[in-house]
Amino acid sequence: MTDKLFIGCHLSSVKGFEHMGREALSIGANTLQFFTRNPRGGRAKDIDPEDAERFLALARENGFGKLVAHAPYTLNPCSATEKVRAFAYTAMEDDLKRMEFIPGNYYNFHPGSHVGQGTEKGIELITELLNRVMRPEQTTTVLLETMAGKGSEIGGRFEELRAIIDGVELDEKLGVCLDTCHVSDAGYDIAGDLDGVLEEFDKVIGLSRLRALHINDSLNPLGAHKDRHARIGEGTLGLEAIVRVISHPQLAGLPCILETPNDLDGYGREIKLLRESRQDRL
Ligand code: FE
Ligand code: FE
Ligand code: ZN
Repeated sequence: MTDKLFIGCHLSSVKGFEHMGREALSIGANTLQFFTRNPRGGRAKDIDPEDAERFLALARENGFGKLVAHAPYTLNPCSATEKVRAFAYTAMEDDLKRMEFIPGNYYNFHPGSHVGQGTEKGIELITELLNRVMRPEQTTTVLLETMAGKGSEIGGRFEELRAIIDGVELDEKLGVCLDTCHVSDAGYDIAGDLDGVLEEFDKVIGLSRLRALHINDSLNPLGAHKDRHARIGEGTLGLEAIVRVISHPQLAGLPCILETPNDLDGYGREIKLLRESRQDRL
């Protein structure tokens, strides 16, 4: 018996949901990730409810797994600047409302960079934001992404994610998205000791919190704290290690999202390669 693999990649949402869904199908994907708004700016386009409906029907018919929305990179709940924190609040509150057009999916964000205020203060500001924007009636699960620990980034240590979760009241609507490139850059040896990393994750955060995977190879070695993604098999993790991740029984059923430097055809080739390699392994 083999569990179904949900694999897809990051796609552009500028042409709407249905277009994204068709693009995903054209490359053999059965999940996908998209930015909720311009990743570097603020403005969000209005969602067309009929477009969302057509997409949901298509996803249902084709057995898609959970979808992952990604917050803009400019969203920093623990900035030292009031204006930046205010944008984080407005954008996330609006994004969570928009997510209800595709109910029951995931909204992933980078916890943020404390920019010199210290990890403790950063964690405090992040939990504050989440307690302000999360609603009991929301159907979306908010995901904290594991980070590379670059600069003053929060989320490079599992303990930091644990501390955020501990501070959030509606924590049953909070999960984690594990990025293979980021955790390796953060110093967790996911290529050499996957079971050890999952054990550590389980001990500190709890594996039931793990809801999605970002599948990326890394240009940099273990513990480099850099965050530069590589194509699958062209980085320091290697194809074998990535296939171990997507075949691991404890990770079965999670949406696997590629964020490798690729165009659509490149993603199609990676999805095919990963499906075949996983099949060979099982
Ligand atoms: Fe990310
Ligand atoms: Fe990522
Ligand atoms: Zn990254």
